[in-house]
Amino acid sequence: MVKNINIGVVAVQGAISEHLSAVKKAIANLGLNGQAVSVKNQKELNGIDGLIIPGGESTTIFRILNQSELLSAISKLIKENDLPVMGTCAGCILLAKDIVGIDSIQIKTLQAMNMQVERNVFGRQRESFEKEIIVNGLSTPFNAVFIRAPVITKVWDNCTAISKLDNKKIIAARQNKCLALSFHPELVNDLRMHEYFLNMI
Ligand code: GLN
Repeated sequence: MVKNINIGVVAVQGAISEHLSAVKKAIANLGLNGQAVSVKNQKELNGIDGLIIPGGESTTIFRILNQSELLSAISKLIKENDLPVMGTCAGCILLAKDIVGIDSIQIKTLQAMNMQVERNVFGRQRESFEKEIIVNGLSTPFNAVFIRAPVITKVWDNCTAISKLDNKKIIAARQNKCLALSFHPELVNDLRMHEYFLNMI
């Protein structure tokens, strides 16, 4: 664990300010020094120790990241420097090797984690819900917010499921220094998933 920690939040679309504020609080909670910074271009990736890809719309986030060449820069940092990344909801989709199902789209994901995801498994915006979930490594349940959430349909090799909804659907997975969550930890007053990520760095 580095003592001074700089966390970037990909700031092209989605729940950006919520992640910036949660990660700032989590850094303080863990007694670390450091900051949370928005990342809108390749230059802003310099000096970061970890990156958060927020929820939003994966097709839009992909398009913008791809146009700005941030996608290939992030992919390179993951492959070559083992950059720790936490992807939430749409961010989880972008970390996956494959996307399946009726909403599978022709996007090139970062392919950072050995997992397959299916988008929009729980339906539309109005079918959003909250649920107490058990996460391996957390001693008490976490109130997870699901908004047009994906599900991780398969994990393999060194990618492990760390939470399942109703003991069935995988909603959180970890592989080395990458963490994928199909829910929104930045929308609740519980910093434990952000702290979990900081502890992986
Ligand atoms: N349904 C969105 C997608 O597939 C993800 C929703 C979210 O990030 N809250 O991109």
